[in-house]
Amino acid sequence: MPRPIHAVIHQPALANNLEVVRRRAPASRVWAVVKANAYGHGLKRAFGGLRGTDGFGLLDLQEAVTLRELGWQGPILLLEGFFQPQDVALLEEYRLTTAIHCEEQLRMLEVARPKGPIAIQLKLNTGMNRLGFRPEEYRAAWERARTLACIGSIVHMTHFSDADGPRGIDHQLDAFEQATANLPGEASLSNSAATLWHPRAHRAWVRPGIALYGASPSGVHADIADLGLMPAMSLHSELLAVQDLQPGDSVGYGSLFTAEQPMRIGIVACGYADGYPRHARGWGEHRAPVLVDGVRTHLVGRVSMDMLCVDLTPCPRARAGTPVTLWGHDLPIDDVAAASDTVGYELMCALAPRVPVSVATLTAAEAEG
Ligand SMILES: *Cc1c(COP(=O)(O)O)cnc(C)c1O
Repeated sequence: MPRPIHAVIHQPALANNLEVVRRRAPASRVWAVVKANAYGHGLKRAFGGLRGTDGFGLLDLQEAVTLRELGWQGPILLLEGFFQPQDVALLEEYRLTTAIHCEEQLRMLEVARPKGPIAIQLKLNTGMNRLGFRPEEYRAAWERARTLACIGSIVHMTHFSDADGPRGIDHQLDAFEQATANLPGEASLSNSAATLWHPRAHRAWVRPGIALYGASPSGVHADIADLGLMPAMSLHSELLAVQDLQPGDSVGYGSLFTAEQPMRIGIVACGYADGYPRHARGWGEHRAPVLVDGVRTHLVGRVSMDMLCVDLTPCPRARAGTPVTLWGHDLPIDDVAAASDTVGYELMCALAPRVPVSVATLTAAEAEG
């Protein structure tokens, strides 16, 4: 028997979440962001649930090629553009739309002189300060791109730093509108948070990622609880053993949890080598939630490489073999992330290669849409 841990990727949830996003931004086309192996879900598995999108956004040329091999004929956007002169030929061969965020990328196109037309998204840095032309450089970059024979359509692109937080997007939207004033072309601005919460920023294209996977851009599940998003990944295991603790008994490495009264704990076949966060709290306040046989309980002690421990007080009938859910339906990944001082993005991306993954597929009727 293999270890009982396994993950499930739910294609109906992905398709549902794409519909939720479309309803929030009805006038926009959608770049479904599938970078990082579709946020850990597996590009191929995610493709099965997201093929109703208008385009896919990702970073890695190899992942773009994989999408073409899966039969995707529509647009593919390289969110960071290309990296080396020899990549230019692949843009043409695979009909990729590319972000252009810096002078060097323009120069590579000028030197390579591909036949084109290559569709680009010209990136404006409106305050995130990672990638993009500064507002005062933007117009000149746009003029230069426009005069390049190999460049086809030019979409104005920027990225928000605070669409999920109190600072919001106004300062960046103002900078965007100023820098692109009187320039023709469509725009692409919104990540999941702006797609869900800032309709002013929708424009021709939106670029949701995390929302498609059913987690919250803010890391707070309550922020998406009413939107109808469904978790696209669930992680499951079983109890390997049960221990009876006496007052004063401690649990696991570092003895971070000590029983104050007699209690039962369960030992779960899941650890940080499976992608469960080692920082998840199993002591003190706000301990990480776990479902044992559908009942919500909490971590006790420190997560180790292959195991973690849970309080069985609310589940008196649990024993070796009882099913455990680490995140998924009825247990938002955001809640586990919050008890680990991170966000759902990191947990889903960290699902370890050793965890077997199965796919819950769309029925033929759902696939018809
Ligand atoms: C990752 C990414 C997105 C998607 O962000 P989410 O917060 O997951 O919706 C959108 N645009 C760019 C440029 C990105 O890199």
